[in-house]
Amino acid sequence: MTKSPYITRRSALMGAAALPLVAASGRAFAAAEMLGMAPPKFNRFKLGGFEVTAILAGTRTVPDPQTIFGMNVTPEEFASVSAANNIPTDKAQFFFTPTVVNTGAELILFDTGLQGPATVAALQAAGYSADQIDVVVLTHMHGDHIGGLMTDGTPTFANARYITGAAEFDAWDMAGNEGFEKNVRPLAEKMTMLDDGGAVASGVTGMLAPGHTPGHMAYHIESNGKQLVLGADFANHYVWSLAYPDWEVKFDRDKAQAAQTRRKMLDMMAADKTPFIGYHMPFPALGYVEPRGDGFHYVPASYQMMIEG
Ligand SMILES: [Zn+2]
Repeated sequence: MTKSPYITRRSALMGAAALPLVAASGRAFAAAEMLGMAPPKFNRFKLGGFEVTAILAGTRTVPDPQTIFGMNVTPEEFASVSAANNIPTDKAQFFFTPTVVNTGAELILFDTGLQGPATVAALQAAGYSADQIDVVVLTHMHGDHIGGLMTDGTPTFANARYITGAAEFDAWDMAGNEGFEKNVRPLAEKMTMLDDGGAVASGVTGMLAPGHTPGHMAYHIESNGKQLVLGADFANHYVWSLAYPDWEVKFDRDKAQAAQTRRKMLDMMAADKTPFIGYHMPFPALGYVEPRGDGFHYVPASYQMMIEG
């Protein structure tokens, strides 16, 4: 039987018995299929002479976020802050956002996501292939940042060299960590270690931001006077960790040091009005901070980066 988009008066009347609402509206054959949730996959903008592309390598819903982001506050306080910001307390959405910086001379990938194939797919959606990556920078050695380095025992980014913080490498070197041994160890000989203030390329400078991990590094990007901070994991939630930098976060190795680093970076970015990309901020993970109360308020970017200065 062939399906026709046209219906006769008779079949419309017969259908009306079974599907009164649909038939009565006359839209039985016009209804489109549900296509499922479709978040944007990448966001590219110009920064001076550079191009910056945030890529969404993964997103997932995680239960019971207070056990992760509000370890040292009461359930009542966590609930009232969440309600005031229109987000639930029983679930949070996680985002994993590597960033690609094209300096014109090199294509630099900051962090590699949880798994190579997902990150490569996100890169491809943004117009890049894995073998175009010249430099992979690792902000720190947690699994959601180093997980994409190797795919089935082979380097995912075949032509890349690697850069990471010296303190970070040293902290994991002797720890016997499975993820480090599987993903980082095989590439260690191709890895350059940076200290605080060290440069990845002209205009791309490492900033030691410890606490989340011992040698966690953020990066300052500058081209033709335009600036951006790649904050990595200095703060991992746009409300709970920015408004309340002292709320303890499960994934911060040294919680007091992480809080101190958060305040320092947020102070700096608020004072300078510097936009930042946070690896775990809601995609496209680009925003500004402004002081509010004893903490900070996250202001998602609108069209600022679309306007050429
Ligand atoms: Zn992370």
